[in-house]
Amino acid sequence: MYDLVIVGGGPAASAAAVYAARKKLNSVIIAETFGGQSTVSTDIQNWIGTVSISGDKLAKDLRAHVLAYAEGTLHVDEGSRAEKIEKIEGGFAVTTGSGKRYETKTVLVATGSERRKLGVPGADTYDHKGLTYCASCDGPMFGGMDVAVVGGGNAGFETAAQLLAYCKSVTLFDSGAAFKADPITVEKVLAQPNMKAVQNVEILEVKGAAMANALVYKDKTTGETHELPVGGIFVEIGQIPSTGIVADLAGRNQWNHVVIDPRTQRTSAPGIWAAGDCTDVLYHQNNIAVGDAVRAVEDIYLSLFK
Ligand SMILES: Cc1cc2nc3c(=O)[nH]c(=O)nc-3n(C[C@H](O)[C@H](O)[C@H](O)COP(=O)(O)OP(=O)(O)OC[C@H]3O[C@@H](n4cnc5c(N)ncnc54)[C@H](O)[C@@H]3O)c2cc1C
Repeated sequence: MYDLVIVGGGPAASAAAVYAARKKLNSVIIAETFGGQSTVSTDIQNWIGTVSISGDKLAKDLRAHVLAYAEGTLHVDEGSRAEKIEKIEGGFAVTTGSGKRYETKTVLVATGSERRKLGVPGADTYDHKGLTYCASCDGPMFGGMDVAVVGGGNAGFETAAQLLAYCKSVTLFDSGAAFKADPITVEKVLAQPNMKAVQNVEILEVKGAAMANALVYKDKTTGETHELPVGGIFVEIGQIPSTGIVADLAGRNQWNHVVIDPRTQRTSAPGIWAAGDCTDVLYHQNNIAVGDAVRAVEDIYLSLFK
């Protein structure tokens, strides 16, 4: 029986694998792919210690770091997807899509999440060509431009607040008649002279040439269609956490994030920890995912030797 099975291949799972190996825990990492969500970014500028790195290079570095420990107590199952976690005597059995079965005392779930995509014509075509899902990652590239934010929740307004620092103007679109974001944030952001918000709209299309250059939307009150020329579009319409694998075992919140104790990363299921974007922590970033996973492995290590 293994000490630990780590499920995932993003920054959280990779960090956990390195720490587990260095603690000589008899462990397995089941990683469908390495790198995680920011692999698609052309330029990551906040991976601490590295001024600029492409998502592709970050993925290669994470994989190389994990594989550097693969000769010892760490078994790397790359290209497999963990499909099922079952409670068994003394721990859990984790089964992959290809039929492999790992018995383990503990599990760390680091399966991350996927951004909810803007499902309109042109959104796929201009994904990462002017249409982006992460202002703290890509925002500075749109300095001096007129940009749009889609989404009127806290994430949308926080994105707008960030963009206002360097964009010429920000227009925020919300599908509802009332913003879901905190009133104080809404008030503060809307007070900026280069900020505008349009409510009760339906986004119809993203237009562009080589890059996205306009957003087409319908005013649901009047039924009229409008086209706004923009240099960039930031979509903040929610995340879909990949947590189905623990649905029957650990508590999840209303958005299906795994609920954890932020001091230890423990879930409500004894023996199962979770870290990174799949959890209910408020902020989701590469550096946070890594730190959370390290905290989890420290706690797993202590729990195994108590
Ligand atoms: C476009 C974009 C750009 C971003 N840019 C930045 C940035 O510049 N800086 C920053 O700090 N943050 C950035 N982020 C946020 C950052 O990518 C996430 O916070 C971070 O990737 C979370 O890491 P994670 O390991 O928790 O999960 P993820 O990155 O989501 O990784 C999860 C991994 O687990 C694997 N997996 C999932 N389910 C299973 C399973 N059942 N079995 C096996 N493997 C599985 C997936 O293949 C994936 O590799 C960006 C996000 C996006 C979407």
